[in-house]
Amino acid sequence: MAQAYDAIIIGGGHNGLVTACYLARAKWRVLVLERRYLVGGACVTEENNFPGLTGFKVSTAAYVNSLFRPEIIRDLKLRQYGFELCERNPSSFTPFLDGRYLMMGPDPGMNQREIAKFSGKDAEAYPKYEKMLERVAAVVEPTLLMTPPNVLKPGLGGLWSLAQLGRSFQKMGSHLAEAVEVLTGAARPILDRWFESEQLKATLATDAIIGAFASPATPGTAYVLFHHVMGETNGKRGVWAYVRGGMGGLTQALARAAADLGVDIRCNAEVARILVRDQTAVGVALTNGDEFHARKIASNLDPHQTFQRLLDPRLLPADFVEAIRRIDYSSASLKINVALSEPPNFTCCPGEQAGPQHRGTIHICPDQDYIERAFDDAKYGRPSTDPILECTLPSAVDPTVAPPGKHLMSMFVQYFPYHLKDGNPDEAKEKFADRCFDLLNEYAPNFKRSVLARQVLSPRDLEATFNLTGGNIFQGSMLLHQLFLFRPVVGWSRYRTPIRNLYLCGSAAHPGGGVMGTCGYNAAREMQKRW
Ligand SMILES: Cc1cc2nc3c(=O)[nH]c(=O)nc-3n(C[C@H](O)[C@H](O)[C@H](O)COP(=O)(O)OP(=O)(O)OC[C@H]3O[C@@H](n4cnc5c(N)ncnc54)[C@H](O)[C@@H]3O)c2cc1C
Repeated sequence: MAQAYDAIIIGGGHNGLVTACYLARAKWRVLVLERRYLVGGACVTEENNFPGLTGFKVSTAAYVNSLFRPEIIRDLKLRQYGFELCERNPSSFTPFLDGRYLMMGPDPGMNQREIAKFSGKDAEAYPKYEKMLERVAAVVEPTLLMTPPNVLKPGLGGLWSLAQLGRSFQKMGSHLAEAVEVLTGAARPILDRWFESEQLKATLATDAIIGAFASPATPGTAYVLFHHVMGETNGKRGVWAYVRGGMGGLTQALARAAADLGVDIRCNAEVARILVRDQTAVGVALTNGDEFHARKIASNLDPHQTFQRLLDPRLLPADFVEAIRRIDYSSASLKINVALSEPPNFTCCPGEQAGPQHRGTIHICPDQDYIERAFDDAKYGRPSTDPILECTLPSAVDPTVAPPGKHLMSMFVQYFPYHLKDGNPDEAKEKFADRCFDLLNEYAPNFKRSVLARQVLSPRDLEATFNLTGGNIFQGSMLLHQLFLFRPVVGWSRYRTPIRNLYLCGSAAHPGGGVMGTCGYNAAREMQKRW
């Protein structure tokens, strides 16, 4: 039977939950409909990932946090609902086969000493490089919580915000060109100009390709790198953290806050159709036939799911449909969750117990050419022969995620293309996972024998599990032509859509992917305005 709400949120990802909370704070009656058995989308903790093994709390998809906005943590009192961040210090460890390693983190003194092992010149340049990124962040960060103007019809307000933005870039003076390069260019030439040691450059370059079907030589990857150095943990800039109990600690806190605000959350409730009358969204129909009605609807799904699957495209303007069809969802990111009997014991930094080398992200990537070769494979539809591994061992910082004495590893791997030229994708992903394990074993020879179980999620699995088109982890790539004024498509950057009272509140909207909460926060603000 139909029920009336002020708002229905399709999808209970972290952004959908943020939208729901802010609308409920404004006294709206809100319903969240989530297709899976739990809310959180790509930001969840699950305990049934390893059949037959108990006590492993797996962050199935997203695995580290720093981008989630402190304003939202404060407004929604998420700490009272159990949200806790465990800082990672050191934050990165890159082992090399020649017996050396590079460890970095929030301590500038340690960074200088570590980088100086490879290049004294780079050790001197590094703080200046960080300052350069901070200068760009000072201009870009305020835009995260703003609604980008419609560049096609900016109106007076839009022209004013564009002018303000132009003014803040202008204030950068002689640094303006480097900011533009960071926002539009490729990561590799920037890193090559700043540094000489391949060990440092490779460590930094991995941030430029996360979730991207690109190599650091591809224009736009400098922004991806920059996107990953924004954010903070407990007021400390650029510090990444684990969420206590896994990433679901955040979304479960959001769900508890939402419930206290009166939000009605229903899981196992897959929306099949958005109901439209006179070009106005009036409700949704579930796959089981139930219908719900509301004044406003927000979709936490990507544009392909929202406009091509839940709506009849004939209701939409042809140029909009064409723009939606052109969105780039290419992906070659694969995730392996691994249960371990002991931490990896690195030849270059031995230790049988969890130590500083296990606290941050462990990069397996010796130099930038290695990344280029790995991407070359993907370009031609092959999994990388020598993949890039980003491994994290949250259990080294937060023992609650694994049984006593055991460990949990997230392996985020590039590149395993969604579109494989040859072979059965399921067989290929297991073979690829074997290759990743062989590779890590070269650096930590106890690794393979310590594996108790693994879960391999290819881009196709990410699509099937989370409804992420193409397995793209950001609901659409984060290259410049799909950011800010152009996200999700030009002319529709203000969370509204051509269907009256239908909004986008997920990472398909500005400012994009990552566990930030900003898309949901901005969408809630726009939904409260008159159409
Ligand atoms: C493997 C992987 C690793 C990542 N690592 C990190 C990381 O470490 N740090 C970080 O900051 N970001 C990371 N990200 C990106 C980040 O997780 C996402 O950008 C973010 O979680 C997206 O949140 P969202 O709420 O916008 O959308 P989603 O999380 O995609 O939520 C959408 C929700 O809608 C539901 N849904 C879909 N279709 C329907 C339907 N028809 N009816 C009802 N419900 C539906 C889905 O089940 C889902 O719950 C990662 C992503 C992936 C996939």
